[in-house]
Amino acid sequence: MANKTAISWTGYTLNPIITGCTPVSPGCGRCWANDSAHRMKNNPNPKISNRYRFAFDFHVHRDLMAYDLEKFDKIGGVPKLVFLGSMTDLFQGRVPLDVLQAIVDKTQENSQHYYMFLTKRPARMSRLLHDGLENIGPNLGFGTTIEMAEYQEDDRVIVLQDRAEYLADIKEAHPGNMTFVSYEPALGPLSRGEYTYFPDTSRLWGDLDKVDWIIAGGESGSDCRLPERRFDWFKEVRDFCVSHGVTFHYKQGGGNSYCKHSDHKAKGCRLLDGQLWDQFPRQILQHFGGRPF
Ligand code: SF4
Repeated sequence: MANKTAISWTGYTLNPIITGCTPVSPGCGRCWANDSAHRMKNNPNPKISNRYRFAFDFHVHRDLMAYDLEKFDKIGGVPKLVFLGSMTDLFQGRVPLDVLQAIVDKTQENSQHYYMFLTKRPARMSRLLHDGLENIGPNLGFGTTIEMAEYQEDDRVIVLQDRAEYLADIKEAHPGNMTFVSYEPALGPLSRGEYTYFPDTSRLWGDLDKVDWIIAGGESGSDCRLPERRFDWFKEVRDFCVSHGVTFHYKQGGGNSYCKHSDHKAKGCRLLDGQLWDQFPRQILQHFGGRPF
């Protein structure tokens, strides 16, 4: 069975077969899944503590594969919006192709639901969606996290905004599937205009105008990083989405006490300039015949 979640942009989470992950970019610095996995390792329920016995070290639970795949059949008949792999990154290089294919096949056997994959490794996601993964139905959405457009590491500039190019490649191969960017946790501007001299101003946003949906939010949890300028960045992204026809969803501004509501429909902490930006892309609206919840 999938778990109900307070995440505003989905209804349920499901974490089949894979546990653990390796940090890949600054957004991983306060990885929520890492903390949760260490807590679950000591859970009094042996089913949970056994699954997380390696805490956040990467592991493929082949022994649990049949059990986990059956969970798709138990989500139920009523269509649900499901985020797959919230506790890991299913497109890490070490996740075997046959495991990914088995998960995708299950999403098609239970196609009344809409499923979303989110990765910080969109290159592999794109590669496998071009050649490797089959049976890709229209009830699948593919997303990547971009926590900032770019950052400096030693003497190199790492351009995370380029992750959106892989979504554009996915769109070319699978035009019927929704693509999305999670701008969370927002650690820097999503546009390249601020820190780098970048002469082609028409490309400050790269391929972000080609994605269907942008979700924005600040970091929460212990030791969360809350850049003072994040609200300016959120507004900049909102304005970009409005002017380019990209669906925008504002999750929350971040912080420990900023958003205490567990009900994902709670609105107080989710206002940007006094307005709720709670949009879902047309592919999800079409699947559910309206809003998913
Ligand atoms: S990719 Fe995601 S799950 Fe993996 S370490 Fe980074 S934040 Fe955590």
